Amino acid sequence: MKRIYTHENVAVLHSAKNILALNDIESLVKNEHTIPNGARHGIENMFLQLWIINDQDFAKASTIIEEQLTNPKPTKPWACHKCDEENDGSFDFCWKCQTEK
Ligand SMILES: [Zn+2]
Repeated sequence: MKRIYTHENVAVLHSAKNILALNDIESLVKNEHTIPNGARHGIENMFLQLWIINDQDFAKASTIIEEQLTNPKPTKPWACHKCDEENDGSFDFCWKCQTEK
């Protein structure tokens, strides 16, 4: 077991867990039902933690979390500066005239 992610918001942590599950990586949430006690256990234990079950998934899991949560790709649509066509945020080139974003 390895800790992969820490966040104070349970919704964010569970979305991370779901993203990993979609990629066939088993994980579990720790600290979900414990009462924060910063004075006794240190500040880190006040945050919820996501742990992966299999250590060999760690590299893959951290890449996924990095891409999906820490540094998500922009998904806002963009307008082509050449032909003015609106493009999906995941496109790097205009679908109509192939001009680079
Ligand atoms: Zn264009």
